[in-house]
Amino acid sequence: MTKKQKKLLLRIIIAAVMMISLHFVSVGGFLRFALYLIPYTVVGYDILRKAFKGIINGRLLDENFLMCIATLGAIAIGLFETGDYTEAVAVMLFYQTGELFQSYAVGKSRKSIAALMDIRPDYANIEKDGSLERIDPESVSVGDIIIIQPGERVPLDGIVTEGSSSLNTSALTGESAPRDVHTGDEIISGCINMTGLLKVRVTKEYGESTVSKILELVENASSNKSRSEAFISKFAKVYTPAVCLCAAALAIFPPVINLLLGNGFSPSEWLYRALTFLVASCPCALVISIPLSFFAGIGGASREGILIKGSNYLEALSKTGYVAFDKTGTLTKGVFEVSGILPSDASFSSERLIEIASLAESASSHPISKSLQRAYGKDIDRSRVCNVQELSGYGVTATVDGLEVAVGNAKLMQTIGVNQAVQSLNGTVIHISVNRKYAGYILISDVIKPNSARAIDALRKSGVKETILLTGDSKAVAKQVSDQLGLDTYYAELLPKDKVIKAEEILSRKVSKRTFVFVGDGINDAPVLCRADIGIAMGAMGSDAAIEAADVVLMDDDPAKIAKAVRISRKCLRIVYENTVFAISVKLIALILVALGSANMWMAVFADVGVMVLAILNAIRALFVKSL
Ligand code: ADP
Ligand code: MG
Repeated sequence: MTKKQKKLLLRIIIAAVMMISLHFVSVGGFLRFALYLIPYTVVGYDILRKAFKGIINGRLLDENFLMCIATLGAIAIGLFETGDYTEAVAVMLFYQTGELFQSYAVGKSRKSIAALMDIRPDYANIEKDGSLERIDPESVSVGDIIIIQPGERVPLDGIVTEGSSSLNTSALTGESAPRDVHTGDEIISGCINMTGLLKVRVTKEYGESTVSKILELVENASSNKSRSEAFISKFAKVYTPAVCLCAAALAIFPPVINLLLGNGFSPSEWLYRALTFLVASCPCALVISIPLSFFAGIGGASREGILIKGSNYLEALSKTGYVAFDKTGTLTKGVFEVSGILPSDASFSSERLIEIASLAESASSHPISKSLQRAYGKDIDRSRVCNVQELSGYGVTATVDGLEVAVGNAKLMQTIGVNQAVQSLNGTVIHISVNRKYAGYILISDVIKPNSARAIDALRKSGVKETILLTGDSKAVAKQVSDQLGLDTYYAELLPKDKVIKAEEILSRKVSKRTFVFVGDGINDAPVLCRADIGIAMGAMGSDAAIEAADVVLMDDDPAKIAKAVRISRKCLRIVYENTVFAISVKLIALILVALGSANMWMAVFADVGVMVLAILNAIRALFVKSL
């Protein structure tokens, strides 16, 4: 408990004890009034103050105001008629108990999310004159070598230059199995180094590192409001004045009508009912529990390595109807194996062909480029390459050793006017031309991720209408992947802009209430990520541009997390729905009972606080998503 909460608890106890003691004191008149005023002020002074401030700032109808009007009204009735002030004090007591519980529960769930997100590194080790020195991760620059000892958190993204170890990535990905890393592997900040000493060359500054990106995402997530949340604030704007009018009508019309009918005049009874009506109308349960549910849902998802950038996306995810995938790096590993090098004639050896291709590709970050360089295996002398141009969806052109080289797909060959007659083959064909003459091709093939088939199956089971492959690769490869994974449709040979056109086509033919999700790795598909209703990016492998453009980021590149994200969103929205229906129906019943005179102010507050407590407990359930 925080200091503030402890103070409130103390005030509640003191006021409760005083109120009960006063019950046994038999004084009347003004003294009695003054005595009861003490516990009332002890427990309620801050509510009175807030209500007063609200009036000054023109916010008339908030719950503080409602509570004050109701309790002060009850006191007035006591003063002029019944002499009973217990009710006013008790109502304030209940209300404050509810407030205390609420701030405790909200604080607790915020804290548990913050604890999960506690991946912020405190320091980085650098070696200086043979001894380790701890420095602020923000002062490390790109290219520096940092040392990570077993048990320490990886402070910055980088590449292992020495050592091997296993990493615990669960804080980032929700994955409990450790990941082994060796010299040459990339590691991301936020993981915990478990077994071996690692030397790491830093590749990103702290501000650009995975950890800072995640923290930033989660911190900003709550500012993107969902439609349900927007509905609540609109609802409150209409609801509050409406209840006040009803309460006023309840206070005025019945006594006046009774008077006219000659049934006597008893305004205080109706005034009391009107005040109780106001207390019963408090919409706190909704106002508090709905944002809390979304917050908990986003927190629960981030524990599983699914970063959702706002409650609007969480809501949209729950209506997922169409899912389109990029191929390379999304459904496949994006790690191509070279399965054949075929020069067109004797003027190039296989060695020379792959050398030229890797040199031309030396500046590209496409998975194909990385794979070619790996197959080539030798160090690349970048001074032999100039005039590099990457044409997304086509390939690259460059000048290598003074030769004009083009490396890419059939479309690239066609655009530069080079003829080739390779039949469709089992794998991705990378054509190479030198000085505008066809020089041969390299056949590469990618491996499908182990979870891809399961991911698509899970999506279908969760009610997704259509799964689609959008790829820049050839028809043959697209068909093979799509058949193997059981996708509904595929579209091949798409340039980045064609992918957007296809996305628009899907958007225009979809059933209106369902949403269109695009999943990609951001290489050549950032525009579609933006265009789709929800863009999901592969975070570990994906480019920074993808993570920027996406609405949801999967930290461990596992496509099975897509269906999980959908299930998390559905659970969260079900909770929101349950709370809305529950709170509104209890409110309605309470309001009717009050208007009929069969519920008093105690009951009204009890109903209000009770619904709120239950709704909050229900909202917190959204945090637990492990078993989904
Ligand atoms: P995908 O949609 O499968 O992720 P991309 O849009 O990234 O594929 O690329 C489509 C095609 O363009 C690739 O299959 C390849 O033939 C060609 N291509 C793109 N970039 C390169 C590159 N750097 N080197 C060679 N070929 C490339
Ligand atoms: Mg791609």
